[in-house]
Amino acid sequence: MKNIIILLAFVMITNVADSQFSKTLFDTYDSYKFNGISSRRFKHAELMTHLGTLTKSLGNMAIMEQVGSSAENRSINLLKIGTGKTKIFLWSQMHGDEPTATMGLLDLLNYILLNKNTAEVKKILSETTLLIIPMLNPDGAERFQRRTSQGIDMNRDALRLQTPEARILKAVRDKYNPEIGFNLHDQDPRYSVGEKGTVAVISLLAPAYNVEKNDNNVRMRAKKVASQLTLVLQQFTPDHIGKYDDTFEPRAFGDNIQKWGTSVVLIESGGWKNDPEKMFIRKLNCVGLLSVFHSISTKEIEKTGTDAYEHLPMNTRNLFDIIIEKITVTFSDGRPALVADIAINKEEVRDSSGTRWEGRVVDYGDLSVFFAHEKWNGEGRTIDGRSVEMNDIVNVDELLKKMKK
Ligand SMILES: [Zn+2]
Repeated sequence: MKNIIILLAFVMITNVADSQFSKTLFDTYDSYKFNGISSRRFKHAELMTHLGTLTKSLGNMAIMEQVGSSAENRSINLLKIGTGKTKIFLWSQMHGDEPTATMGLLDLLNYILLNKNTAEVKKILSETTLLIIPMLNPDGAERFQRRTSQGIDMNRDALRLQTPEARILKAVRDKYNPEIGFNLHDQDPRYSVGEKGTVAVISLLAPAYNVEKNDNNVRMRAKKVASQLTLVLQQFTPDHIGKYDDTFEPRAFGDNIQKWGTSVVLIESGGWKNDPEKMFIRKLNCVGLLSVFHSISTKEIEKTGTDAYEHLPMNTRNLFDIIIEKITVTFSDGRPALVADIAINKEEVRDSSGTRWEGRVVDYGDLSVFFAHEKWNGEGRTIDGRSVEMNDIVNVDELLKKMKK
């Protein structure tokens, strides 16, 4: 019965054309995926080469304009595509180590290029103007770090505007006063959705503009956009779309841009099993955004309620990469043995020899309330307590081999 209600709500809220459009986008992704970038650690110079090529190919459909420079003098650029009345502003990678949406934006531009004569693209470009800043924090991207080269978290600089990058974002917003905005980020791949413990592949937020978390027309429109995005994404990854905490953060851009009059939706690219480079999530960004642009261009968005977004389960952090359950931990120094669950996360480590993944013990004890990408039954097996102390690096492959025996 519940399923029928959900199905009915779905049919009522998304029209058939839109869900067909998003399905086609999803199914044909490989035909327009931008293949120039295939891993997360690309830098400004590489991105600029690709943007240059794409802009050139788009010809008079697109204009790329330098809107300023980072603290270390890397260019920050705005791409304008479309001639429509409704302005949609998108900015990615204000945190340098959050590149998933930037890759999705390249796919999106390539889709527009390859499908410029289709009814859908024509509709989008005649009804909306896309204003896109890919990689707002190129200095951070150079180091693959969250903060800017001046050590500032740009998303806490919306009021003081001490960084050149934050001033650029504010200036572009103020110049165009766009109706709709997308604030594009990555979150830790170990966020889960609701009580089920499924991994959050995408989390959405229509940020609050005040402490009371009131709704006004601007935030309501953001919630409608977030609802439409939810319905699109739930077709492909049901149970994996989460709602991000909407506590008002007075220093953050999403919250302030909502306050300044642009309806903002935050998209957090989370995690997906066996996808450390987030290539599947990049695809969801591209498919989700193009679908919503289409809904905006056809005015379908105005018929969308806010329920799909409001009813999303909250993002929680109770997910680990690996849990070995109920293994007997022994100590050779006389401490008594005990039965424990061991949680291990795979962390990306960079040093002079390159990038690799290391397993680290991050929790130990009764972990029965937590979830994991992989759970292994350790009953009847033993492990030396000295090798699995908190924060120890462990050889995951060897450990799991033991579990399989
Ligand atoms: Zn971020």
